[in-house]
This record gives sequence, structure tokens and C-alpha cells, in this order.
Amino acid sequence: MNIVFATAEVSPIAKTGGLGDVCGSLPKVMAKLGHDVAIFMPLHRQARDWFERTGAPIEEAIPTTQILWANWAAEASYFRSELPGTDIPLYLVANEHFFNREQIYAPRADGYDDGIERFAFFCRAIIRACELLGITPDILHAHDWHTALLPLYLSSGLRGGPTFAATRSVYTIHNLNYQGIGRAAQFAALGLHGRYWSPDALEHFGEVNLMKGGIIFADQVTTVSPNYAHEIQTPARGAGLDGVLRSLSFKLTGIINGIDIEEWNPEDDPNLASTYSDERLTGKALSKRALLREAKLRFRGKTPLVCFISRLVDQKGVDLLIPALSHMLRAGAQAVVLGSGESRYEDALSRVGEEQGDRCRVWIGFDNALSHRIYAGSDMLLMPSIYEPCGLNQMYALRYGTLPVVRLTGGLVDTVIPFDGTNADEATGFGFMTASPQDLFIATWVGMLNYRDASVWKRLQANGMSRDFSWDRSAIEYDAVYRRALA
Ligand code: ADP
Repeated sequence: MNIVFATAEVSPIAKTGGLGDVCGSLPKVMAKLGHDVAIFMPLHRQARDWFERTGAPIEEAIPTTQILWANWAAEASYFRSELPGTDIPLYLVANEHFFNREQIYAPRADGYDDGIERFAFFCRAIIRACELLGITPDILHAHDWHTALLPLYLSSGLRGGPTFAATRSVYTIHNLNYQGIGRAAQFAALGLHGRYWSPDALEHFGEVNLMKGGIIFADQVTTVSPNYAHEIQTPARGAGLDGVLRSLSFKLTGIINGIDIEEWNPEDDPNLASTYSDERLTGKALSKRALLREAKLRFRGKTPLVCFISRLVDQKGVDLLIPALSHMLRAGAQAVVLGSGESRYEDALSRVGEEQGDRCRVWIGFDNALSHRIYAGSDMLLMPSIYEPCGLNQMYALRYGTLPVVRLTGGLVDTVIPFDGTNADEATGFGFMTASPQDLFIATWVGMLNYRDASVWKRLQANGMSRDFSWDRSAIEYDAVYRRALA
């Protein structure tokens, strides 16, 4: 099969979260299954910086081309590289105005949010590139709202030409709450026939909704865990699209994300002071000492170290974390936090770090290498998410012998087995249901109590470290979805 991935993020080149991780690793496993894969992403400023920093080869793929759509024209320059560590072609679409921005999802300099226009341009540029490069995809795999227009463009006449005559589309929802919503007037920027301005296409209560269009027009829709696939069909978690999803549930599949077990491997992780395995955990103890040193916290033998690594947005339960954190510190825990996002959260967490500097260290920023050292050096990872489509952090933590404390929502239900005092033979972490700081604190406190029992703790660590979170199983499920799309 010839598969084209269309995505706003690819790890490690430019990422803000799980979308980047998935699009950096799923193509590898699909290629391993014998498919021809190519990836398209924008040449964000972060991507340009990454190529400069690493010296990875990048070259012009095709001469700069005018992309014409609606009443717009914009220039696309195309660069070609390879997904790091593979020979999978990675095409980067460049346009100074649209993609050379400080943040991947930043609005225009004057504050106008032109997300709809710039990702419409990106989708159009992908289509043009396939035509110019002679890529004839069997599967066009679009991810999240940024590339949700591709299934619509495919069904609006593209299949009439030779490039896309046999192409089918798969659309993956990584997070239903970011839908690519625009004003009605922005519909004109999409270059689609007026019949797509209707409630059974892109219009949603008088606004443009790209996510909705992607769901309706894709041949198959997936999301990133079975439990989330179920939750998004309910009014509570459907973010206004539950009705659409219920009516199209016959083509919706939940597939749990895998993790890149080469990048995330405590036995062979260049970011760690000492590597380790589930059989020899001394390296984890050394990693904890090193992390505490880096955090300027004192090593205390029997004190559990909890961590939180996240985008600082309400989805991640930061409103539960901030009050609960002080209680945890008072109850005897140490904590390290790494995150960036909304300034109200950055400020509040920094304050906890300043006020309780002898027990807590807060790093504001995005630092992948440091995140590896934190997963390795901590005893517990806090994940009090309000909702969580899949979640990767908890899987990294499990692999690094760090027990997750999770709110039982979305993919966290599919990936963490909470310890209830009787299931030490299978449990991998701790869980709570109600989104309250009290319940987060109690679940963490249960963890802290169990931390004192070294034999139980080791058992739970071993359970988590031996779980298979590789992409292999999920890849087979994606393969089946692709086949259903083609059938
Ligand atoms: P989401 O995609 O909703 O942000 P996921 O759990 O799916 O959540 O993925 C988060 C990814 O981003 C993980 O790889 C996590 O380690 C990483 N991450 C989040 N915040 C930071 C940060 N401040 N520094 C480094 N890595 C981070």
C-alpha cells in the first residue's frame, strides 16, 4: 500500500504533544509492515531550527510552486528529508508567512488567528506536491483538524484526476476538543463548493468546523484509544460532535497509541546518568539521585519523588494539581514539575516551586531530554487529566518503572491498572475517578503508603515495565483500518 501521512507535527522535528510522537513513530511501523510511506509536514520555524541544530540533510524537493485555491494564491516551497533514523521520505512545506512563527500554533503577528487559512494552504500544497512528485496514494492518512480538509478535498472532485483516482482517506482524531473552528466568512477561504456549507458537512451551528468535515468525509475514522472512542460518543465528552460520531460509529475505531520503544528505553537511553532494566533497578536509584541533584533537592532515602510533565492547559488537570501538590509536599513527598503553556498555570506552579523550594522544583519550558531524566528519576507520575484521548506520559512512566497516578478517563483506563490492595500480580499504578484535588491527593497518598513496602512497589514496577506498549499491535489494527477504507 502507498500511504501518505499529513500532519502538523512530527517528533523529534517539531512537536507540541502526542500528535508529534504518533506521527514520528507510526510511519516507521507501517513501513516495517511493508508499506510505502511518505510524510508531509509544514516547515515550522522549530523544524528549520531542528535541521540547523542537527545538521540532518535537507534539500529542495521541487521548485517553488504557486498554490491557487479559492481566491487565494500563495507560494509553497518543498523540501525533502527523511524521517530520522529511517529512509521514509519526509516532505516539508515552506511558506514564510504561514509557518515561520515562534510557536507552531501561533496566530498572525497582528493577533488574527489564521489557522483555518494556513492549514487549508497546507492541505492544498500536499495535493499539489503529490501531483508534481507522482505520488499516487492508496491511503491519505490525515491527523487532527489541521489536515481534516484532505478527506473533503478528496471527495470534492480530486478523484477525477489520475493522482487520487484510487485514494481512500483515514482520519485520526488525536484530541476532539481542538476542532479548527472558524467564522462563517472563512468558509470562502477553503475553496469548496457551497454545498459543503451545510450541517452534514462543514457547517456546525453557524461556524466552520474542520474536525466535523474530516469525520464526515473520511472513509474511516480512528481515535487513539478504545475508551476514548466510546467517550466521544457521549454528550459529556463529545465536545458538540457526539451526535455526528454516534451516527457514524460504524466507521469509528479506537486504537491505542504505541510508544517509540527505541527512543524510550531505560536500558539504552543516552539522556540518563545511568541506564537500567526491570531486573537491575540500581540505575533507577542513581537516576533519582542525579535528578534530585539537578533539581537542587536533597536526597532523602525513603521519600517518594512525584513528577508532572505536561502542557499546562486545563485538560491536563492543572487545577487539581496545584492545590493537591502542596498537600503532597506537606505529607512528605518531593516533587518535580516540567511544563509550559498558559501563563496563569506557569505562574501558579512557579509560585509553589518558590514557596516550597526545599521539596519541589518547577521547570517552566519544553525540554525533551530533561523529560527523559524525570521519567527515569521519579517514583510516581501524576496525570490528573480532565480528559485524555490516549496519553503517552503514563506509558513512558510505566516503561521507566515510575508508577502513574491517573484520573480514570480516556486512554488512561486502557493503559493503567490501578492497585486496589489485592491485585499486585497485575496492577501498574494508582487511579481515581472524581476530578477533585482531594481525590488526586488521596490516590497519590495511597501510592506514597505503598512506596514504603519495597516488595509491593517492585512488583508493581515490574508489572508496568513488562507491559508491551510497542507499536506492533496497534500497527496491525491500523493496517486493518486501511484495508477497510480500501474495501
Ligand atoms: P498531549 O498530546 O495531550 O500533550 P500526550 O501524553 O499524548 O499529551 O503527549 C505528551 C508528550 O509531550 C509526551 O511525549 C511528553 O513527554 C511531552 N511533553 C509535554 N510537555 C513537555 C515539556 N514541557 N517538556 C518536554 N516534554 C513534554
